[in-house]
Amino acid sequence: MRRIVIAGNWKMHKTQADSLAFLHGFLPQLEATPEHREIILCSPFTALTTLSKTLHGSRVMVGAQNVHWESSGAYTGEISGEMLTEIGVRYVVVGHSERRQYFGDTDETVNLRLKAAQAAGLTPILCVGETKQQRDAGETETHVVSQIKKGLAGIDQSKLIIAYEPIWAIGTGDTCASEEANRVCWLIRSQLANKDVPIQYGGSVKPGNVDEIMAQPEIDGALVGGASLDADNFSRIANYQ
Ligand code: 13P
Repeated sequence: MRRIVIAGNWKMHKTQADSLAFLHGFLPQLEATPEHREIILCSPFTALTTLSKTLHGSRVMVGAQNVHWESSGAYTGEISGEMLTEIGVRYVVVGHSERRQYFGDTDETVNLRLKAAQAAGLTPILCVGETKQQRDAGETETHVVSQIKKGLAGIDQSKLIIAYEPIWAIGTGDTCASEEANRVCWLIRSQLANKDVPIQYGGSVKPGNVDEIMAQPEIDGALVGGASLDADNFSRIANYQ
C-alpha cells in the first residue's frame, strides 16, 4: 500500500507566534487522524525552528519551501540542505509553480535542488503542473511529463514525493475535477521507475472537497495552501474520510 501524505504549504504566511497559535488549535484535533497518514507543515524559514522544537516527538513533520543546490557559499538569500536538517526539517517543497513563475526556477535548477535535498537527507516534494493556457491548448500531458523527466533526471525515487498542482487551480477556488487530477497523477506514475512514490494533488483543496479527491485511486495525498493556514480547516483535511 502506498503512503498517504497530507502537507500544508504555508507559503509566506505566519510568524513564529502565529505558528504556535496554529499548533495549539491543530495538534489536539489530530487525535482522530489514522496513524499511517503522514502530516507535514511547510513553513517560512523563520518559523522552522519553532515548529521543529514544538513538534519534536509528535507525529507532525516539518518541511521547508526551498533549498539551494550548494552546501554553502556566496549565495545571498539562499539556504542549504544541511542548514535545514540541522534544525530538524525533514521535507522540502521543490519547484513550486510560484518559485518557477516569480523566482526563476527552471527544470534544471529544480533538478539541482532535488539532488541537494536528497544528499542532505531531506525528502523533497517535487511540484509539477500546467498553466491555464497550456491546459486550454491541450498541452497538459506533454508539459507535465516534460517537467517530470527533466526534474527527476538522476534522482533517487526511493526518497521522493510528487505533487501535481495545476497552476490554474492554485488559490483560485477552481479545483481540478477529481477524475482529471487522477488521470494526470496516473500519467505521472507511468513515468516513474518506483511506482510507490506518493503523488499528491494540490490546488484549492478544502475540507469540502478533500474526501472526493482522496477517493481517487492514483491520488496519495494533498498539498494544501490556503486551507492549511487555519487549524480547523487543515485538521478536517487531515481527518478526511
Ligand atoms: P491553494 O490550496 O491555496 O490553492 O494552494 C495550493 C498550493 O499551491 C500548495 O502548494
